[in-house]
Amino acid sequence: MMKILVVDDESPILTLWQRFLERWGYQSDTAADGREALDLIRAGAYHLVITDLAMPNVTGQELLRTAKSEQPDLQFIVTTGYGTIEVAVETMKAGAFDFLTKPINFNHAELVIAKCLESVNAHQENLMLRRKNRDLEELNELKEKFIAITSHELRTPVGIISNIVELLTPELKSHPGESMFRLISRSSQQLNEIVGQMHELSRMNSAKLVLARAPFELHILCREIMDELKFVLDKRKHRITMIFPDKMTVTADRLKFKKVVRELLQNAIKFTEDGGEISIKAAIDEGNVLNFSVSDTGIGIPQENLDKIFHLFYEVGDSLHHHTSKDEFLGGGMGVGLSIVSDIVKAHDGTVEVVSEVNQGSRFIVHIPQNTAVGNA
Ligand code: ADP
Repeated sequence: MMKILVVDDESPILTLWQRFLERWGYQSDTAADGREALDLIRAGAYHLVITDLAMPNVTGQELLRTAKSEQPDLQFIVTTGYGTIEVAVETMKAGAFDFLTKPINFNHAELVIAKCLESVNAHQENLMLRRKNRDLEELNELKEKFIAITSHELRTPVGIISNIVELLTPELKSHPGESMFRLISRSSQQLNEIVGQMHELSRMNSAKLVLARAPFELHILCREIMDELKFVLDKRKHRITMIFPDKMTVTADRLKFKKVVRELLQNAIKFTEDGGEISIKAAIDEGNVLNFSVSDTGIGIPQENLDKIFHLFYEVGDSLHHHTSKDEFLGGGMGVGLSIVSDIVKAHDGTVEVVSEVNQGSRFIVHIPQNTAVGNA
């Protein structure tokens, strides 16, 4: 509740003020002069002081100056007889919100007070928002630091485990514990993948993406990815078609573009039932923009989620039922892939869009201008 202090050396006026303020729903105290008012201000939490100017001891102006220097957010409305309007204007310059001339027109006073307290409210909300914003920024920094440190610290041990497991694989072919070992191998691969994505993410966060653009053959790049995903593709039996000319050349940062294609393809595989169809299309339009798309006949994405899937850590599914897998049908990731795709495409001055229908399939389309100078950072 808003708390108001009224200061006047004429007690009938104070009584009048108190009646009106109570009627308007404000809590109020009164002081008979500036000195008493200062004591009350220092002791209590007021939002507004309504003060007469001409008072014995400490005058209204002195009260305003001293109180404002101690509590800059405290608002003042000064009351004054006609003779002292210039003084009232001076007090406005010293930070008063408004002034009321005596005899007080209480209808007008009600409006002025409401306006003043509205500005107090707005100011407080503003302060609160700024504080919250600062807290959010700190939290974000902490989150980024956490991801950076964990991914950095996990990379080496996880990498060592994966390498050793890979080295031991041939030796354990006919060992009785081979099936368990395969489980270890798969888990360590998954761990490696997750740590890799976390690392990639924190690298993207901390540094502006520097691109090494150069022309390359799209066909070869797609073939490389299919080879890397061979194990998954054999298992899930999707039909993948590439619809673009054999020798088609694309200009982009090859490594980063490969990451885009791999993420889109992996998602298409993950979210399309076994044996579904996936097609990769590419064409350069008359504006010299590469239009590259990956379409699937999978589960699709509900319309209301379409703009959220590019957000970091966003997954359409319930995270409580999350299970990490990059090759199973509906296998979850960390909700990082599309955010990385979007960052890479943006760095290429491009855009990415998605068209999708539930149970029909999804199509992710990447547009990347081709006329940018080669090797441009
Ligand atoms: P994840 O690591 O979970 O795959 P992404 O950022 O790559 O994270 O994708 C975010 C979410 O968008 C996924 O969890 C999934 O719900 C949805 N999604 C992405 N690609 C497809 C797709 N081809 N079909 C259906 N849903 C998809």
